[in-house]
Amino acid sequence: MNHHNAEPGSEKSGEIDRETTASEPVAMIDAAHEGAPPDDSDATVDSATSVDIDDQIERILQRIPTRWGRSLDVDAGWYALIIDTDNQLARINPDYVVHQIKEKFGTLRYYYAPSDGDATGALQDAMDAVIDEAERKSANICERCGQPGTLQKHGWFKTLCRSCTK
Ligand SMILES: [Zn+2]
Repeated sequence: MNHHNAEPGSEKSGEIDRETTASEPVAMIDAAHEGAPPDDSDATVDSATSVDIDDQIERILQRIPTRWGRSLDVDAGWYALIIDTDNQLARINPDYVVHQIKEKFGTLRYYYAPSDGDATGALQDAMDAVIDEAERKSANICERCGQPGTLQKHGWFKTLCRSCTK
């Protein structure tokens, strides 16, 4: 009895494994198509979505009250990071307000305010954590081109990749 139960079972799981492996590439293509960018294909994402990036940056700037002046004082290499940060913040607090996004001492600064109703400060804690992470990441992303970079300190501060440093 045991013998009979075990064998068909193991055969089946073998088949399932093979099927899963075979369908994986298709699933990955679908995911990429739907706009879940894999971390290792920056070039593809950049060329496919440069218009989207402008649209998304524009949408983030719309969060800035007009009296603050709607400008983005960072170079394009950080746009993807900023869009990712905005997406995460919007998930926590869809109507949050941006005050200023800029570079300071070579890394990103992202000033914001939660929309009203944050009595406990819980929203702000969660959003601060997202921004801390983004500021840390910005020290490793070339502000000019978006490639991996390091924080340069030569009397001035800027995070750059090797070719943008030259
Ligand atoms: Zn660069």
